[in-house]
Amino acid sequence: MKLAIYCGANEGVNFIYKQEAKKLGEYMAKQGIELVYGGAKIGIMGTIADAVMENGGVAHGIITEFLKDKEIVHRNLSTLSVTKDMHERKKTMIDLADAFVALPGGAGTLDEIFEAWTWMQIGLHEKHCAFYNTNGFYDGLIEFLSRVSNDGFLHEKFVKNLIIENEPKALIEAINTAKNHKTSGNKG
Ligand code: AMP
Repeated sequence: MKLAIYCGANEGVNFIYKQEAKKLGEYMAKQGIELVYGGAKIGIMGTIADAVMENGGVAHGIITEFLKDKEIVHRNLSTLSVTKDMHERKKTMIDLADAFVALPGGAGTLDEIFEAWTWMQIGLHEKHCAFYNTNGFYDGLIEFLSRVSNDGFLHEKFVKNLIIENEPKALIEAINTAKNHKTSGNKG
């Protein structure tokens, strides 16, 4: 299985974010689950890639020409793909991965997980999305999504389809269980 992990290009102010990313990366490597991510060496992105590589796992970096030139690229990955722009980068990650997980991050992380989720909703793929909810980081967002659904802008099945876990084993088990059930997006 390949997991796309979206996460911060920053480390956050609380050490727990880095610690939990490391724990997930180690767990993935040991379970033979491959990492698909943005290819950077900085922030939580770099932390999880290092953890996967240091534990004998497989990490695929997908980075744009522009970001590569900014010297943030991780030089010790199993594979590195360089895309012409952000659109191609995000599409490549969505195509490659079997499921998508957002760790704590900023606007880029939110953009990426929401794109994967919305593409599922309109039937472009049938893969699941998850939030790795370290330190209750996503509690506020999840509450807001209930509001969006209650107010009639989002079918509740799409909120229920989201996987929310804060521990590696539980996350992977939830993804494996979910993979046996269709996401039931609206094909079209
Ligand atoms: P962030 O969560 O903002 O720290 O960003 C994490 C990742 O998202 C990095 O790989 C960024 O290159 C990427 N990113 C940042 N801004 C955007 C954006 N506007 N659209 C798509 N990806 C972005």
